[in-house]
Amino acid sequence: PKTTVLITGCSSGIGLGLAARLAADTARRFKVYATMRDLAKGERLLKRLGGCCPDTLEVLQLDVTDPCSLAATAQRVQGQRLDVLVCNAGVGLMGPLETCSDQAMKTIFDVNLFGAIRTIQAFLPAMKRRRAGRIIVSSSIGGLQGLPFNSVYCASKFAVEGLCESLAIVLRPFNIHLTLVECGPVNTSFLANLQRPDPEGSELQGLDAETRGLYHRYLRHCQSLFHDAAQEVEEVLQVFVEAIGTPCPPLRCVTTQLFAPLSRLRLASPDGSAYVRAMHDFVFGRGEAGGDKP
Ligand code: NAD
Repeated sequence: PKTTVLITGCSSGIGLGLAARLAADTARRFKVYATMRDLAKGERLLKRLGGCCPDTLEVLQLDVTDPCSLAATAQRVQGQRLDVLVCNAGVGLMGPLETCSDQAMKTIFDVNLFGAIRTIQAFLPAMKRRRAGRIIVSSSIGGLQGLPFNSVYCASKFAVEGLCESLAIVLRPFNIHLTLVECGPVNTSFLANLQRPDPEGSELQGLDAETRGLYHRYLRHCQSLFHDAAQEVEEVLQVFVEAIGTPCPPLRCVTTQLFAPLSRLRLASPDGSAYVRAMHDFVFGRGEAGGDKP
């Protein structure tokens, strides 16, 4: 029998790529339930595959913030056994903390954290009954270390890390493997899709000039980081495919070594000050705009 895989957030980026890759598997090993909030965007996936693939792909509507939509999808799929659940839907929020609206913050947590929780809750009981299954979660380097002007996004991904690490302990005896995939910058529409203050808008005008200056420097840093170091979707898909196929996947897989020196520094110096200094220097340059006079 085929390995059944349900993926959230398949209308673009990593979700779209993973759904296409598994559905197009030459050995036809997978049956993919590619889910997305807006079914109209399913065209992209079908186009990528060169038409319908009825025996390897089913496209389903699923908004991870809507419990009714989750219940309907779970009902639809539950008849089949689900082998692999990929919680991938996510959104970003960038900008000085003072500019993050209540609504924007709630949306980020509703999708990134509560969306993942609701999705896992919907499929976990059946996996436990079968004492088999895999859960793969799209997390982020921003779930492992703080990133400037991404505090609410990082908070949501840190929360996802705490959720999954805690859950993995309980799932051990059930033979359910949980894996967090920690992506760095990936060439998707993530940057275009994320919420951020309009650079010319009033939110930033109300902010102190120094923070505004730092934010503009961050945006330039971010642009060049994505330009120079972003991975292609195909590259990170390899990590998902391994997490699906390998007998005992680890709790965490990083897709890039780009942040390894900073992660090591963070671990080696648990009080955090060395990391804060190093990240500041990495993004804003050494000795500039620093509050830490010698
Ligand atoms: P993307 O914006 O192309 O994909 C995110 C997908 O989630 C979109 O298809 C979007 O429609 C979907 N989505 C948003 N809200 C949803 C909802 N309520 N219900 C269902 N689907 C919803 O970006 P991506 O890079 O493919 O992002 C995928 C995951 O990878 C996210 O969780 C993101 O946080 C994570 N990630 C991305 C990067 C990056 O640089 N691209 C880096 C680290 C982590």
